[in-house]
Amino acid sequence: MKPNDTNIYPVFERIAGRPEKEILLGQKAISIWLIGLSGAGKTTIGSALEKQLIENGVLTQILDGDNIRSGINRNLKFTETDREENIRRIAEVNKLFINCGVVTINCFINPTHETRNFVEHILGKQDIITVFINTPIEICEQRDVKGLYKKARAGELKNFTGIDSPFEAPENPDVTVFTEKSNVEESARHIFNYVIEKIKPTWKKKS
Ligand code: ADP
Repeated sequence: MKPNDTNIYPVFERIAGRPEKEILLGQKAISIWLIGLSGAGKTTIGSALEKQLIENGVLTQILDGDNIRSGINRNLKFTETDREENIRRIAEVNKLFINCGVVTINCFINPTHETRNFVEHILGKQDIITVFINTPIEICEQRDVKGLYKKARAGELKNFTGIDSPFEAPENPDVTVFTEKSNVEESARHIFNYVIEKIKPTWKKKS
């Protein structure tokens, strides 16, 4: 094997591959992205979706903004460079899970077309399912689960998505849920029905 110019010697070809692992697990790996404003319901719906998938024999891993930022990305702040590095690492972590045959459920605001394109560049379009958790900002602000909107409105929190930092709705999501109209279980079921056929092509609904 030839070293590259950084003296790093990747051994990908000697590691058991994704197909073997997918066969072992009896599932196809995909990376599900729940995208929406803070308080839209990403984590709540993501957890309900995970429960439904596990009940149907799917191995999953939830990746959530707060958990990632308090763990692997705890050294990152909210500057432009750090936001980019945050999303780059999240995409690379996804890649590791995908190569292991695991279905990932990503609960991140992932606010712009640019950040989503960056993820797509790292992961490849074919492995990504985009779900728009479509909750109007007024509703998110009423919920204000973490009190962040109040702080942002008071000017105590800068660059808050939807207030003084942009949020661009995904243009062609694979699935959209409207949390004003559907409760958590219904939203999760809607997403489940779309993803399960991709994860387990032979899946049949239990009668
Ligand atoms: P996010 O992860 O997008 O920041 P969370 O899931 O942490 O949002 O918070 C959403 C909040 O909204 C939760 O407290 C949840 O109980 C509440 N909520 C109320 N109605 C709904 C709904 N229909 N779907 C999802 N969440 C809802």
